[in-house]
Amino acid sequence: MVDLKGQYSKIKEAVDDSVLEVLDSTAYINGPKVHEFQKNLEHYLGVKHVIPCANGTDALQIAMMGLGLKPGDEVITADFTFAATVEVIALLQLTPVLVDVDPVTFNIDVDAVKKAITPKTKAIVPVHLFGMCANMEAIMSIAEDHNLYVIEDNAQAIGSNYTYSDGRKVKAGTIGHVASTSFFPSKNLGCYGDGGAIFTNNDDLAHTIRGIVNHGMYERYHHDVVGVNSRLDSIQAAILDIKLKNLDSYNKARLKAANAYDDAFKGNENIVTPFREPIENSHVFHQYTLRILNSDRDALVKHLNEQGIPCGVYYPIPLHRQKAYQDSRYNEADFKVTNQLVKEVISLPMHTELDDEQIEFITSTVIKFVNS
Ligand SMILES: *Cc1c(COP(=O)(O)O)cnc(C)c1O
Repeated sequence: MVDLKGQYSKIKEAVDDSVLEVLDSTAYINGPKVHEFQKNLEHYLGVKHVIPCANGTDALQIAMMGLGLKPGDEVITADFTFAATVEVIALLQLTPVLVDVDPVTFNIDVDAVKKAITPKTKAIVPVHLFGMCANMEAIMSIAEDHNLYVIEDNAQAIGSNYTYSDGRKVKAGTIGHVASTSFFPSKNLGCYGDGGAIFTNNDDLAHTIRGIVNHGMYERYHHDVVGVNSRLDSIQAAILDIKLKNLDSYNKARLKAANAYDDAFKGNENIVTPFREPIENSHVFHQYTLRILNSDRDALVKHLNEQGIPCGVYYPIPLHRQKAYQDSRYNEADFKVTNQLVKEVISLPMHTELDDEQIEFITSTVIKFVNS
């Protein structure tokens, strides 16, 4: 699915030098590399504050802690996403409220969000799934009307642009009150271990969060709030700082592969290719995900694997049907889209090192199967 080795080989010298520099400096925790990367990412995103932390799941949890959400508060998020999002909501004893997604964009359904709002609702967590922003303008407007926080789960869309209806462009993860991201190796900006970050334009919230990630300390050995220990280590920051310089070209390579996939599948009535806005960089293709119609998706997965083609099903089970997150208030009729998508979706290999020959082999194998 990803070719981390091929990507590494192109930046090996810079990465190795920078990692060795950290080893030599012994500044393994909170060293200068962490601060440099933080500043460079703030500049890249056009956001006032980046607070690095240990992983993307922590980033979501810390964002919610920073907002002061309290047990029993309801948090609305998408049924069709990775479990981390709902997991941290539940872990903080907030009440997850899962809602359906849009069949075209796969992102949280704005009308379903509106319907799910109660007097207990405190926050909405849109997930920019597979690399494309949720409908943030609508979500921010709902949030404003109901006095809710918006936490963007930007683990899959770093570097993508969001365009407002007036043409203004901003980076994903800079629109809500706060956002989280993950630097898991296979993400668009991935390190060589675990890492994550929180973004916000709010100075007070940034200050609160900087304390939370460091045991609730705002002054050494004074613990004002219950915090956590969540840090990005210096070695990972050194690697990320080099990869950040390449992020736009990495996302361009993903887009090129997505365009080649799109061209190959064009007009095939058994395949729905990903929704594309006619705006540059609106989709950074963390995943290239098809819907397979009139054909057995699971048999296709098996066939591709037999042909030596990796593929993934993101995600095979709706969160509302997961044992840990079942809730008697949920009604199957409210999850029509997710229930359908889990049967149809398949994600093809997507990374920065795909070549024409690989894409030709993958697409012809898929087409032969769905047309037979
Ligand atoms: C990867 C991911 C996370 C979690 O990130 P980790 O760094 O693995 O903890 C959260 N949300 C989404 C949507 C993700 O894709």
